[in-house]
Amino acid sequence: MRFTLIQSVLAVALLSLGVAIGTTLFVNAKQRQRVEICGNNLGTLWKAAQCRRLLRFGGTQPGYQYGYGAAFWRALRSQEANPSPMDAATTLRNASVLQCPLAATDYRGPSGDANQYGDNDPLGADAIDAHGSQSPTNVLLKSGTVMLVQRPHPIWVAAYQMTCP
Ligand SMILES: [Zn+2]
Repeated sequence: MRFTLIQSVLAVALLSLGVAIGTTLFVNAKQRQRVEICGNNLGTLWKAAQCRRLLRFGGTQPGYQYGYGAAFWRALRSQEANPSPMDAATTLRNASVLQCPLAATDYRGPSGDANQYGDNDPLGADAIDAHGSQSPTNVLLKSGTVMLVQRPHPIWVAAYQMTCP
């Protein structure tokens, strides 16, 4: 059986389309996986913050350490903040948890005294547009909940008012 030119051209075109679709699906899956790791990172930072809070300020008036922005999270890597054998603190020895795997930028921390924040106030967040200008970013609430939100969602707006780089 012989192939005409048009058949060959069609076959190549279809093959290219298949490769393009396959590549797009692969890129999307990889992006989704990174967004998930990003959310897990914020959850780990929250757990580490709770460890430090209990260790340093445990008792009747537990409180967060003083610190703003990315420094708030980076302070959790200091020796006194790592009460072994707590899982979150152990994971925090790996500095990659302090950064979004998509943008490779530090997470934002509270821009004010975290102790004054309410449970539903954002304690941490991705850098603005860390996942692309058309994609939602991860926001960590003081309650420990991580939300994937996009502007103009009120949590997104609050996140970039109440956290700083
Ligand atoms: Zn991220």
